[in-house]
Amino acid sequence: MTSDESPRPAGGLGRFVRAAPQPGQPEQPLPQGFERFLEKPPPPTGEHCELCNEAIPEEHPHVVNLDSRALMCSCRPCYLLFTERGAGAGKFASVPDRYLFDPDFTISDAQWEQFQIPVKMAFFFVNSVIEQTVTFYPSPAGATESLLPADTWVEVMAANPLFASLEPDVEALLVYRRDSAYECFLAPIDACYELVGHVRMNWKGFDGGQEAWEAIDGFFERLRSRSRSAAPARNGGAA
Ligand SMILES: [Zn+2]
Ligand SMILES: [Zn+2]
Repeated sequence: MTSDESPRPAGGLGRFVRAAPQPGQPEQPLPQGFERFLEKPPPPTGEHCELCNEAIPEEHPHVVNLDSRALMCSCRPCYLLFTERGAGAGKFASVPDRYLFDPDFTISDAQWEQFQIPVKMAFFFVNSVIEQTVTFYPSPAGATESLLPADTWVEVMAANPLFASLEPDVEALLVYRRDSAYECFLAPIDACYELVGHVRMNWKGFDGGQEAWEAIDGFFERLRSRSRSAAPARNGGAA
């Protein structure tokens, strides 16, 4: 007996999705739905939109899943669906492309110490689900949350009006401590997670090692060159 009536894709890809036929046994038909994956070869980069599964280029926008806090790779059409907040029943939000440098960022060493951040970097963003600004820093284990006494928080946020302009969930203030100067950027949240990735993949030992700091410094170089100053946006601010 034969089962030649089952559809057989050309090119032999079927062997990757089903067990090799046993001698004397008919071949199993492909499971329902596999055929469409066999029609098109996979895209060379292997990157797919995580919302619709369309192939996407290496450079692509991202969407935040507000329930899971996951950053999802997106195609342009899906990205555009969620640029307006509240779209998609508020479950997804597109990450904008705004880069600012804040020349007036103010924090004292004593305030920074209270964050207990072991690396020289941290990012702050508004989590709209819990309606709070939260602090994370990159670490070899990934993004790690830092908790700060509430009164210090109030002082730091009052001293830095750029906090108020953050778009919840998708933008962050990213601070890089260099000796006792602090560089502050308003950056998309996916850029912050890119920095987390550099640290996670390259950090070695106690101080990070040369490779990690080269990756980190390269990241901040690119950030500086992309960012325009936030100062002209608030003429007549605090003296
Ligand atoms: Zn898509
Ligand atoms: Zn991506």
